[in-house]
Amino acid sequence: MEFTEKVVIFRVGTFRENDCWVRFLSPSRGIVTGFAFGGRKSKRRFCGCLDHLNQVLFRVSSGKRNQYLSLEEGTLLQGFAGLKKDPLKVGMVGNCLRFLEAVHTGEAGSAEACDLVLSMLGGFDGLAGPPSPFFPIIFRIALAFGQGYDLDVVHCASCKAVLQEHAWAGCAIEEGVFLCPSCTGKAGYIRLSWQALAVLHHLRTTEIGKWVDWVPGTSLQRSLYTFADRYIRYHLGVADEENRVVRC
Ligand SMILES: [Zn+2]
Repeated sequence: MEFTEKVVIFRVGTFRENDCWVRFLSPSRGIVTGFAFGGRKSKRRFCGCLDHLNQVLFRVSSGKRNQYLSLEEGTLLQGFAGLKKDPLKVGMVGNCLRFLEAVHTGEAGSAEACDLVLSMLGGFDGLAGPPSPFFPIIFRIALAFGQGYDLDVVHCASCKAVLQEHAWAGCAIEEGVFLCPSCTGKAGYIRLSWQALAVLHHLRTTEIGKWVDWVPGTSLQRSLYTFADRYIRYHLGVADEENRVVRC
């Protein structure tokens, strides 16, 4: 079996003298590893494309007896040189991709994940100033929304009232719904201000690449962080602890 696809490279390593393994995100197959035999020396087959954070058009075959993916040739589509010049941006992208690797398994949602990653890389690549330290939280929320855990942030799930007409709304984490103040019970929900709701609504309708330098005020940061942490722990089963993504 053979296929040709636009992918994003996460990591590249060398084994033996001239061979590489490549960890990449495919829009149809998810995050997979392939092998580029002779990849370190073949300029004809992999002309400068085997580097992390490149978008590459790969021609891939299944290898002998379908035991592994063999990368036959690659063409560089985007190298994101502006992003790679800045260690801060590279570190932040690495943080987001590690999170993606922790939660995204299998093929479902891979095209959406690919779009999200490409938009993020493009956003950082074109950013002249420093990235927002809050961006990884925004990325996590957008990823959860795109991986099947989207929320209606406009209407109360119970009475259908417009949430923005109230000062705040309650998010029932386990049910994955928002409720207006009249419909929230006594416990079991997180309170989000209308400003935080407006951010979530805006996030659902804009590309993630536009958020790379967005810095919210302190109370909005706290509110969005609490929501992201609780929502992602429950629905995606992971959490950030001491700079590591852990299963919980
Ligand atoms: Zn209601």
